[in-house]
Amino acid sequence: MKIIDAHMHLPVNFPSLCEKKNALLAEMKRNGVCRGIVISDSEISSDIGSLEECAKLFDGCGDVNIIGGISPFIDYAVQMKALEKYIAGGSIVGIKIYSGHEPVYPNDGRLEPVYEIAQRYDVPVLFHTGWNAPEYTSPEVIMKAAKAHADVTVVCCHCCYPNLEECFGVLADCPNVYFDISSLAEGGNSVKAALEKAIHISPDRFIFGSDYGCCGQAEHIGFALSLNISEYERERLMHGNAVKIYGIKFPQNS
Ligand SMILES: [Zn+2]
Repeated sequence: MKIIDAHMHLPVNFPSLCEKKNALLAEMKRNGVCRGIVISDSEISSDIGSLEECAKLFDGCGDVNIIGGISPFIDYAVQMKALEKYIAGGSIVGIKIYSGHEPVYPNDGRLEPVYEIAQRYDVPVLFHTGWNAPEYTSPEVIMKAAKAHADVTVVCCHCCYPNLEECFGVLADCPNVYFDISSLAEGGNSVKAALEKAIHISPDRFIFGSDYGCCGQAEHIGFALSLNISEYERERLMHGNAVKIYGIKFPQNS
């Protein structure tokens, strides 16, 4: 089974960016992951790498694409310029908003420039959802933002964990919303059942990711492969949907 891990971060426990990159590539190889997406931080100085650092670090690396983290609170105008430059050049394939980690709702007016760029270059906007500060990313708020930007692809990372049922129910009628299952291996049987049910209904809206760096990649692959879903659904989950949503191109003959 071809595996794309569409949600990774640089691991933090290495002294240099280069060593972090090598550790990440080695982990992908060990786990049979043929392609991946590394998500940068929105901070300028970060152990998981800033937008600029991640874009430069993986420039020309055929196995990894970058999603750029950005924040309306951190050097916004300058970071937006850099973001647009890397998206236009093809090295950044999406934009991540750390809603909940930062006090910003997906429908916050300050994010309009982000949605504009996403629409212009046809790249998704990802939101951290659930976990530590779920009030910023209730399914209702995500629905409002998605409906107001119906031409933009929205990716709901972590599926509003632990409220998966509510997340999938409320967002069922938002066809531009996709779900990244990163960090969910910790959730146990109720999470598994909610995922299986939702994947049966919408197999083209789920993307495999591990949150490597924070979570175990091998553990998440085991979790995804243990889901009781059809072969078609698994193929969509493990790579087909990521290829489509992030516009991932494979070199010929691979
Ligand atoms: Zn993450």
